[in-house]
Amino acid sequence: MPRPSSGGRAALAACLALASASPLTAQFRGELVAAAQADPARLGGTGAVVLSLAGPEDLSAARRIQAAGLTLYYWIEIGRNPALAEAHPEWMASLQGHPEWRRHFPNVGLPQPGEVVKNFPWVPVHYREAFDAHLGRVAALLKDLPAPAGIFLNDLQAAPSACGCGNGQCRWTADYGPIRTATRLGADAAARFVSAVAQLARGARIIPVWLTECEEHDKPERCAGVACYTGLCWKEYAAQLELLARQAETLAVLAPYRLFDRDPAWVGKAVRTFGAGVAPARLIAVLQGWDLGTAEVEAQIERARQAGAGGYLVARMKIDQSWDPRIVPRIVPVTR
Ligand SMILES: [Zn+2]
Ligand SMILES: [Zn+2]
Repeated sequence: MPRPSSGGRAALAACLALASASPLTAQFRGELVAAAQADPARLGGTGAVVLSLAGPEDLSAARRIQAAGLTLYYWIEIGRNPALAEAHPEWMASLQGHPEWRRHFPNVGLPQPGEVVKNFPWVPVHYREAFDAHLGRVAALLKDLPAPAGIFLNDLQAAPSACGCGNGQCRWTADYGPIRTATRLGADAAARFVSAVAQLARGARIIPVWLTECEEHDKPERCAGVACYTGLCWKEYAAQLELLARQAETLAVLAPYRLFDRDPAWVGKAVRTFGAGVAPARLIAVLQGWDLGTAEVEAQIERARQAGAGGYLVARMKIDQSWDPRIVPRIVPVTR
């Protein structure tokens, strides 16, 4: 793709400025990169560069992106946080409902009295204690960085294999079992988090990144016979999404198809089935750019476009969605 001329860049910048008014009025095109990938020699192919924030390298990377005349966005991974999970195992999501997840982890033993199985390193904003810690981390990451046009917030849902079925796309709850070790928030947790980050980063468009739930044909294998699809998954997904969609005009659909072991057509399906009341034009499709060739990336873009998505973001860095059962001592929250 040719690098836009300076006039072209100005026009593109104008388009993106328009896009940050609601609703999206121009196709969003962007690339998601880690700081080390923010190389001026290879930036410039798309309209926006979305920098994944991780720490000390972020400032110089953000400056390189801006110096190249590109529109700067940030990406912040929220729910999947190894450091927070190590520091506060009691804030991790649990795996104590259906036992079907065990087929993927046959060596994990049973928790003893005084223990609980947690889902490392998933620390959802659905717990009050973790919510505040995540918000503090976001504030620390943004401090001293240039103001972005927008911020993508990834993994505001609970955790993979929510009910215990073993399907990484079942994410509606942080706890599906009797032992609670942190204080649960309601269905509005993600919406509240978006609102709180918007207060921290005034002027930036806050874009929550959301993953579609399990599918009907997942029941026999991915959900191991558990009736997730017709059970609570989509009902709870819809309840959370409805509140989220009131807070954020633009949302992103997490659709790196190979990562989730789907095919390129699934990108279009994810956009179309995202949620009642959320028009596809409000969605930015997050596509898999790592470990795939140009043709496979183009195929995803075409599917997103056909489904009517308002734009796309090609992830050049891998988005880690892995999860791992971990047995930890049961720590009961202090009720205040
Ligand atoms: Zn599900
Ligand atoms: Zn399931």
